Amino acid sequence: MSTSESSSSEPSTVEPSTVEPSIFTRIVNREIPATIVHETDTVIAFHDIAPKAPVHLLVVPKTQRYANVVELAAGDPALLAEIVDVASKLADDGALMGEYPRDQFRLIFNTGQAVGQTVFHVHAHVMAGNLTEGSFAH
Ligand code: AMP
Repeated sequence: MSTSESSSSEPSTVEPSTVEPSIFTRIVNREIPATIVHETDTVIAFHDIAPKAPVHLLVVPKTQRYANVVELAAGDPALLAEIVDVASKLADDGALMGEYPRDQFRLIFNTGQAVGQTVFHVHAHVMAGNLTEGSFAH
């Protein structure tokens, strides 16, 4: 890693004041509401406001330093691993999964406008429930 910033003890919610807060940073900062289901010092998870599957959660690093998963993997692979770990924990939560099989989920990182990314603050879509084989659209 070329920088030690991301592993410092500074809370990752703190962003340079010149950067416009993303919608997800505003959720982290409780400026707009969301149904939060999990939170650590570095990651937050909440229900997608417009679900495209019976279970549709977002797992988001609190820092908005990384616009997409490629940047995140290069800049802070441990944080990416934490997102995957949180996704797995959510998918193991019967209260969130309801009638659907636990531990089975789709993890999507839209990367780029042309494939539908609308929020350029990296986030994982965790989806489950009646997702058919061969259908990747959400
Ligand atoms: P993407 O298209 O991959 O950038 O995904 C952005 C996702 O964020 C979409 O699925 C939106 O429905 C979701 N979203 C946008 N605003 C909110 C919000 N305020 N609370 C929860 N989810 C949101």
